Parts: sequence; C-alpha cells; structure tokens
Amino acid sequence: MTDKEALRQRILADAQMDTLAIRAGHSPSEEGEHSEPIFMTSSYVFESAAQAAARFSGDEEGNVYSRYTNPTVRIFEQRIAAMEGGEAAVATSSGMAAILSTCMSLLKAGDHVVCSRNVFGTTTNLFLKYLCKFGLEVTFVDLTDMANWEQAIQPNTRLLFCETPSNPICEVADLSALSALAKKNDCIFVVDNCFCTPALQKPLEFGADLIIHSATKYLDGQGRCVGGCVVGANHYIDQIVGFLRTCGPTMSPFNAWVFLKGLETLRLRMDAHSSNTMALAEWLEQQPAIEKVYYCGLDSHPGKALASKQQRGYGGVMSFQVRGDRAAAWRFIDATCLCSLTANLGDVKTTIIHPATTTHSRLTQQQRIEASITDNLIRVAVGLEDINDLKADMQRGLGAI
Ligand SMILES: *Cc1c(COP(=O)(O)O)cnc(C)c1O
Repeated sequence: MTDKEALRQRILADAQMDTLAIRAGHSPSEEGEHSEPIFMTSSYVFESAAQAAARFSGDEEGNVYSRYTNPTVRIFEQRIAAMEGGEAAVATSSGMAAILSTCMSLLKAGDHVVCSRNVFGTTTNLFLKYLCKFGLEVTFVDLTDMANWEQAIQPNTRLLFCETPSNPICEVADLSALSALAKKNDCIFVVDNCFCTPALQKPLEFGADLIIHSATKYLDGQGRCVGGCVVGANHYIDQIVGFLRTCGPTMSPFNAWVFLKGLETLRLRMDAHSSNTMALAEWLEQQPAIEKVYYCGLDSHPGKALASKQQRGYGGVMSFQVRGDRAAAWRFIDATCLCSLTANLGDVKTTIIHPATTTHSRLTQQQRIEASITDNLIRVAVGLEDINDLKADMQRGLGAI
C-alpha cells in the first residue's frame, strides 16, 4: 500500500456515511481501476504447495474458493458494515439466507426466539415450518407492546427478532427498550433493517446486536438482484461466516457489484422515497374516499414520535384503507396504470398490492384483523416517479372505488 493509500484509508475510518457509501472497502489494484472490479472466479491459484497448505489450514489469510471469500463480495461487506457502523458484515444469497444463516449459526435445538408478529411473511414461515422442525421454539408478539415482549421471555430465550417500521402499517418498535430487554435476559437482539436501510436508521446505535438486510430491496434499489447480509460484531459475524462456508448460501460477485452501485446512491434515493411518500400520504389523507392512511411520518400515526427519534426519514412504504370492501380495494388497484402491481418493494418504480389476499393471505381472518390488515387495505411502496404523476394515478384508483 502506498503512503497516500494508507492515508486515504485512515481518512475513511472517520468519514461520514455518504462518503463511506461511495468509497469504503475498495483500494484500486495495480490496474488502477476506478470502479470496483468484478472477480468472476470460483477458485484462486496458489504460488506454491506450501502456500496452498497454509491457506487451507488458515495459517495464511487469502482467497481459496468463492464459497469462502470473494474480493468483490468483500468490498460490499466492508462497505455495508461501515455504513451501519458495525465491526463486520457477511453477504448472503438473499435476505432469507441472511436470517437462516444467523439462526443456524447462533442457535441450537431447544432454544427459544421471540419475534414480532408482523415480520415479512417468509420470515414467519422460516421459523414455523423449518426451524421449529429442528427443535427451535418461537413465540410471536405485538411489535409495539413491551409487556408482551417481556411476558414472552423464557429461561431458554436466546434471540429477539423484529422489523421496524412494520409492513404494511408502519408500526414502530422501540429499539432502545428492546435492546435493554435483550441485554437483561442475555439474548441476541436482531433487527431486520430492510425498510429503512442505514441511510435512515442505524439500529446498532440503539443497542441492536445484529442487522439483517434484504439487499434485494433498497440496497439494490432498482429491482435487479436478490441478495442479503448480516452486520454486527466480529464474534457473531465469524460464526455466521463459518455456517456460510460450509452450507453455501453466499452472494455472487456479480450481485455484490450491483449492490455496490446501489449503495452509492442509497442516501439520495431514500431521501427521495421518503419525501415522495410523505407527499402522497398527506394528499391521500385528504381524499374523502380514503378511510385511513398508515405512514409513520404522518402526525396521525401513533409511531411518529418514536420514528422521529430513531429514523432520519420515514421511508418509502405506506398503506391506506379505502372506504368500502375488498371489491372497492381491488377496483382501486386495477384502475391504477402507472404503479406496478407486484409484491416487491424498494424499487425506483412505485408498486401497489392488496396485502390481505397476497403478502398476508396465509394469516387467518382474525389474525389479519388484529394486525389491521383489513380487506380494504392497500399497500404502496412509493418510487421516484414525479409526485404529480403518482397522484394522478391514485386519482384513477379513487375514481374506480
Ligand atoms: C424481502 C424481505 C426479506 C427477504 O429478502 P429476500 O432477499 O427476498 O430473501 C426479509 N425481510 C424483509 C423486511 C423483506 O422485505
């Protein structure tokens, strides 16, 4: 490393997130490349038999095989760790692989997890359908009810898991209170930070132990690749890396490169998603055909104060109830033309979906009512199109109710 490069690395160690998002993790190779290189290679060559032996035994650091390490993936890991303010990160093949790898490496049969009820549907399924099969116990609780969390703690509770703001009604968890509860009971506190990203919320600063990301969403930001990661202290990440090396759900170098390009514009996009969503939520709240709007940036939302404390923006996801029944909600959705009718989110393109019959259709009617996912509820993940065009599209929906 040249003196200048060493100085650059020291400067980066103290840099702000916007700088880290663009520069952390990459030092140009002897080729002098400006953009991060993509290392499309499954394995690496050694200089000698002795070096091969040393790499395999772990006596010498260095690449062996891309299931273990890959230089492009490493740049992504170092960059997202720096942005979240964590010691280390490990990249995974998807957001679900990040959650699976965390549980498989840090938990064992007989352990108990407390998880907020309204997490991503597949997360619930991962716990109930698969991890429980191997002897893990899970209790689901109300995200915002601290008494509920406390009551759910058992002697064998090892991990607390939450997602905030929640999908689709933007409930906000008290991260400091949950981290205090986790510490008191010797539990690992895991936060799925997919909806906010480090651009809007850094759960480690509020005492979380590990951050989960579905990079598929806002980190990519343009709907191209599936991936994920876990961020946190070295002693946790090392254990998760051990699981990934053996079990294999690692990130491809090409996807890591796409996510790196996404991270460069993450802050700008998240700010734009937040302001577009706020404008649309405020406008919808004024429309007579709308019963209620759920967005944690609105004064009418019970999570506003907490969100203002924990987040530097309110994010791109909101939902609303139309006056009417399921048929009215479906007519609204079908009358929109600009919005993409898809369950995905975290894209520059605005997406619209009917949670009760899609993302949350596995819940019973009673569970949906408890979670406020009524038949007249519509979720919109607001993209970066012109706000007036988005309002006009919502107007098409309103006209069809
Ligand atoms: C999409 C999503 C996941 C799963 O991520 P994949 O990349 O699709 O596996 C996990 N948590 C949240 C909050 C999500 O939105």
